[in-house]
Amino acid sequence: MKKVRQVNLPVEDLPTRWYNIIPDLPEPLPPPQGDMTAMGRTMIKECLAQEFSQENWIEIPEELQEIYHQIGRPRPLFRALNLEKLLDTPAELYYKAEGLFSPTGSHKINTAVVQAYYARKQGLQRLVTETGAGQWGTALACAARITGLSATVYWVRAVYKWKEARRDFMNLYGAEVRASPSENTETGRRLLKRDPDHPGSLAIAISEGLEDALSDDKAAYVLGSVLNHVLLHQTIIGLECRKQLELIDRYPDVVVSCLGGGSNFGGIALPFLGDVLTKGKKMRFVAAQSESAPNLQGEYRYDNADYSGITPRLKMYTLGHTTDMPPIFGDGLRYHGCSPILSLLRNRGYIDTVAYPVDEKYVFESAKTFLREEGFLPAPESAYSVAAAIDEATRCRESGERKVILFNISGHGFMDMEGYRQVLRM
Ligand SMILES: *Cc1c(COP(=O)(O)O)cnc(C)c1O
Repeated sequence: MKKVRQVNLPVEDLPTRWYNIIPDLPEPLPPPQGDMTAMGRTMIKECLAQEFSQENWIEIPEELQEIYHQIGRPRPLFRALNLEKLLDTPAELYYKAEGLFSPTGSHKINTAVVQAYYARKQGLQRLVTETGAGQWGTALACAARITGLSATVYWVRAVYKWKEARRDFMNLYGAEVRASPSENTETGRRLLKRDPDHPGSLAIAISEGLEDALSDDKAAYVLGSVLNHVLLHQTIIGLECRKQLELIDRYPDVVVSCLGGGSNFGGIALPFLGDVLTKGKKMRFVAAQSESAPNLQGEYRYDNADYSGITPRLKMYTLGHTTDMPPIFGDGLRYHGCSPILSLLRNRGYIDTVAYPVDEKYVFESAKTFLREEGFLPAPESAYSVAAAIDEATRCRESGERKVILFNISGHGFMDMEGYRQVLRM
């Protein structure tokens, strides 16, 4: 009999609601602390409402469902049969392909279009944001364009300098792209005075973007990870996966993904974590991180999301908002804090974590193995997901367990070959 390699949902089976786990959490989510003025003034109103919603299910407006179709949803689920064979594992390996059929190559577009849609409905004209690896900036540039808004992107200078193709990509969408720290804001000017070639960081870029958005009442500041409403929008990933696995009569024993701020991990894991909390399912969740920024091994406490302390403080696992983190090619994973929802679940023992060495040899080797067996090129961040899935499958070989392992390939690596080239010395 023919083996199942790919599971697709018909377009009309796209989930029509996002799953909000907040009311199902084992304890109330600690609210943000401190000055909410900046966030209150610059956030999109609908997103702010979703941030604190106690509704379990939130309807995806019809026009947005159409936009989800436009950007390639539903996306396919694949079984990595060649990889299973190579690893000689009794486990079944399924991966969600968020990089494919995504116009900008990653899962980030799933929330970018939602935020742009609500901003336009509110009568705003410009979206301002930060980006590290560049995936979020590209997604936002695309989302703003296709919904008729303009976009300004503050891009961590260390990355801005070498990712020329991605800069061209954002410019092609018509976005205004600035290297951060920039001369455009107080925070940027202060840092540039200290060091004219300051490499920047995600936290600094957030401060700059907020400052910019605060000075323009037709602009909103948008974030691509960490916050509750971002994870909410990303649950479309896990909701699709659950339907796809149902079609082939499977349910995961292990859910794996890479974690920077937590949006793609939350996206694939939260619907299943909801099953654990409300239906007594037993499952293992593994967040793959870098030793450069193992925020889930940090402290669980209140901390700012940005460098200058403009944002309110969030209760989260954090390494400290001014901590230096060594550069890695999987730059999207280099952030000091983890989403409050996932932090709470981690604190309660629902989420395990693994951190891979900063030299990234193991993760890029794992991604190369995946590419040679399955054919697809994962983004540097997604390489961490692949490494952790391979580790889980290898453990199953040793224990003889026939586990169903679900992992997320958050993006493709077509525009980020440099990491492979340098780390694997090609
Ligand atoms: C941004 C990004 C990540 C990390 O961010 P999360 O919010 O933790 O998902 C992972 N993979 C890709 C491809 C990204 O662009």
